[in-house]
Amino acid sequence: MMSKVKSSETVKVVVRCRPLNRKEAAGVTGTPGGRGGIVEMDVHRGQVVLRNPRALPGEPRKTFTFDSVYDASSRQRDLYDETVRPLIHSVLDGFNGTIFAYGQTGTGKTYTMQGAWLEPERRGVIPNAFEHVFSQISRSAVDRQYLVRASYLEIYREEIRDLLDPNVHTQPPHTLELRESPESGVYVRDLSSCVCKSVKEIEELMNLGNQVRSVGATDMNEHSSRSHTLFLITVECSQTGPDGRQHIRVGRLNLVDLAGSERQAKTGVHGERLKEAAKINLSLSALGNVISALADGRSGHVPYRDSKLTRLLQDSLGGNAKTVMVATLGPAPQHYEETLTTLRYANRAKNIKNQPRVNEDPKDALLREFQKEIARLRAQLSHREGRGKHREEEGEEGWDGEGDEEGEEEVEKERKLQKERLEEENKAIREDGSLLAVEKQRLLGEKEIMMGDLRKERDTTKQLTAKYKAMESKLLVGGRNIMDHTSEQQKTLETRRQEISEQSRREREILQQVMVQDEETLELRETFSSLQQEVEAKTKKLKKLYAKLQCVKAEIQDVNDEHVRSRQELEQTQNQLTRELKFKYLIIENFIPPEEKNKIMNRLTLDPEEEQWKFQLLTPSERSGCVYLYRVSACVCSCVCLSV
Ligand code: ADP
Ligand code: MG
Repeated sequence: MMSKVKSSETVKVVVRCRPLNRKEAAGVTGTPGGRGGIVEMDVHRGQVVLRNPRALPGEPRKTFTFDSVYDASSRQRDLYDETVRPLIHSVLDGFNGTIFAYGQTGTGKTYTMQGAWLEPERRGVIPNAFEHVFSQISRSAVDRQYLVRASYLEIYREEIRDLLDPNVHTQPPHTLELRESPESGVYVRDLSSCVCKSVKEIEELMNLGNQVRSVGATDMNEHSSRSHTLFLITVECSQTGPDGRQHIRVGRLNLVDLAGSERQAKTGVHGERLKEAAKINLSLSALGNVISALADGRSGHVPYRDSKLTRLLQDSLGGNAKTVMVATLGPAPQHYEETLTTLRYANRAKNIKNQPRVNEDPKDALLREFQKEIARLRAQLSHREGRGKHREEEGEEGWDGEGDEEGEEEVEKERKLQKERLEEENKAIREDGSLLAVEKQRLLGEKEIMMGDLRKERDTTKQLTAKYKAMESKLLVGGRNIMDHTSEQQKTLETRRQEISEQSRREREILQQVMVQDEETLELRETFSSLQQEVEAKTKKLKKLYAKLQCVKAEIQDVNDEHVRSRQELEQTQNQLTRELKFKYLIIENFIPPEEKNKIMNRLTLDPEEEQWKFQLLTPSERSGCVYLYRVSACVCSCVCLSV
């Protein structure tokens, strides 16, 4: 069941510009200390000003306003405290949250999302979020139980790969499918998810996934600029509600590092490379189209189904989630066009409206399953210990860890006594001279069976106890099985930092409101004491409006140019794909007998979820016909080779 209260909020968009690197700094004259470049930022107002290095005389600079901007001197902490921290709090409260980094390759997406793990000052969003989630849980009230799990996936060439799949090295790699349910929205079918009990465990998972990524790639840098990764953390929390019943809230946090936003060049590449470039461009244009359609707000159709990425982000863009977009920029003049494109995307994304809501008591909550299983094991154990009745009287909550251990000790003592008794009886039988040998043997045999039963009983109880403890240790309870090691001083420091971030956010909001009001006052009628004064004021106003007009005109021209460019590119791709299609038709029409062709066609069905053609399973009689098909196709291949 989902909470009924619906509220709407826009996607939060922040922009970050990295410093000029050494090579770029050498190319930008008069910019000592790696500063300079074409991007200027006004951190207080949340504005970015972009300078065109090939600007015509009088061409105005382009200014964009965002929720926050982070310049070259910004620290990882600044971005985290101001922009990410509130989102993590929402996830712990049961909202879906998404942070995605968007920008050209080399502008700092991975630096922002991951950063340098081993240097505390340079750790990025993901490691900080890990710390944050577990420290919040460790400080929570004891009546709350948490279950945290993580998944990690990659989209490469429009295929989804599970980076935590233990069989990930199988050839060819297993690719996953997307599905949709009214309960949890769009999800990846069969995606592994691992329960994590600590920061260390979740970090290890991430490392594992990162290794899988790099093993498959010949050039990791190139691979990461061409693939999207998504790290998903699910936090389930159960708590007794005012109605006295247990309620579960489920928050999901998507941490997304996108492929480089630059368009992949398709000129001069053929075959697989061409298809790969087309697929990468496809997912990026699909993302752009989704953002535009949502930002526009008028077009009813949002093309989520055009790519895997947009489907996966369906909830995050225009759906049930709180979303932060971090657009990353480089300051070098040679990337002016790409930087402008990124800023335009980011500017559009500001208008996307989401409807986040608390996910309450969903049917598929794993925590509920765990609680049920724990209760079942507990009942079994109680039953074995012959204290079932006593336990029930105590109630579920009263049966804590200490109680378990006491109970176990008692049972163990009881068993020991039984064993000793049996051994003594055994001894007595053996020493009893009045018994016949046959009788002795029978009695000893009976005792041996009883000893065996006792051992079996003990082993089963041990196994049950171990299983019960393992399950229970996965549910985190603040102060019980997850401890808060932060000192009071650190906590105060954290609170102060949060207050400062909140303060500067509010200041920026007010400044932005004032700027908007300033613009609006241009429209107001004013009264003037003299004609001269009126002329002056109106000339000033006219100048301002003229500059604005020029900006809008330039913007229209730019958007038109961009439109033409992407249209040309689409046409080019279409032509290339049509050529390939013709080639395949030629083969089919000339080398495959029509009846075989029909057989194949009849076996194909369209999977509407995946938008892909799939083969139906063969019946045994059809399978023999298939051998012929393989022969035909082998023959076709050799014929084609010959004709080439
Ligand atoms: P992307 O993931 O967008 O391709 P990277 O995160 O790999 O880019 O960044 C490229 C290079 O720039 C890396 O060497 C990274 O350390 C550096 N870098 C990126 N952003 C910053 C920043 N804000 N401050 C300092 N160095 C940065
Ligand atoms: Mg990267």
